[in-house]
Amino acid sequence: MNSMNETWKKKLWVCLLVLSIIILTGCGQTGQSTAVPAIQDGVIVKVLDVGQGDSILIKTTEQVVLIDSGDSASSQKLLGMLAAEKVRKIDKVIITHPHSDHLGGLPAVMGKYNIVHIYDSGQTNTSKLYRNYLKTVKNKKIPFSIVQAGQAIEIGGSALLQVLSPSKPYFTGTRSDLNNNSIVLKLVFKDFSMLLAADAEKPAEQRLLKQYGEKLQSNILKVGHHGSSTASSPGFIKKVSPAEAIISLGANNEYHHPHPSVLKKYNKEKIKIYRTDLHGTITIRSDGRTYSIAKEKG
Ligand SMILES: [Zn+2]
Repeated sequence: MNSMNETWKKKLWVCLLVLSIIILTGCGQTGQSTAVPAIQDGVIVKVLDVGQGDSILIKTTEQVVLIDSGDSASSQKLLGMLAAEKVRKIDKVIITHPHSDHLGGLPAVMGKYNIVHIYDSGQTNTSKLYRNYLKTVKNKKIPFSIVQAGQAIEIGGSALLQVLSPSKPYFTGTRSDLNNNSIVLKLVFKDFSMLLAADAEKPAEQRLLKQYGEKLQSNILKVGHHGSSTASSPGFIKKVSPAEAIISLGANNEYHHPHPSVLKKYNKEKIKIYRTDLHGTITIRSDGRTYSIAKEKG
């Protein structure tokens, strides 16, 4: 009787062992497949506090997208923020234009993350930073596309980035052709929308007004060119008619952004202003119907 019990006990232990191996292996696989990339539902947009520059992280239920990468001076901070967001790979990187305050953090990001696809404005720069960027994209064989107005970039989870700018003929002879030819996007997720104006200045705003008119209307505006007086023309603000405006800029920056006249224009339209220099990273969450905005500080 006792020996029978011992045999059954042994069999039971073996069964339990096999079962636990199956469960552990199964759990491991499930964990890996759900951890990448991001969120259970809705869309999250983070206008990251990268100092003077732009970097915007978008997470959908299917993809992680990074629009611009801040300056090289803040690249370690950017990597820290991506790690804190538990980013494992980046499905899409969009570089709005090749100025260092938008492209500078990318070498660090490319060094650490697998990037599935890179999009840029097709504008070139003579800087070493820009040449090295192209070289790295080529060496790493990262799929690369130049985008233009009229196209749309699918980012999963029913969310879309409509490309509103640049359009041909590209701007020449403006104060900054690179700024005016930068990629302007409209994030659309069901009823929620956010206009990401990159560093588009007044000439680009005028063209957008002519080409899109009422279609510019968005819940939130990421203000063009860090709150500089070279952007945010009154007609443009009126057509976008956001409830909130977000300005990405560094504290005490050498360009004296934001310009007081720009703040006045948004205040006049009763548009609530959020600033990364005062409020840190700004987080927007939307379920496609409503949305919330949270400040990191201030
Ligand atoms: Zn800039």
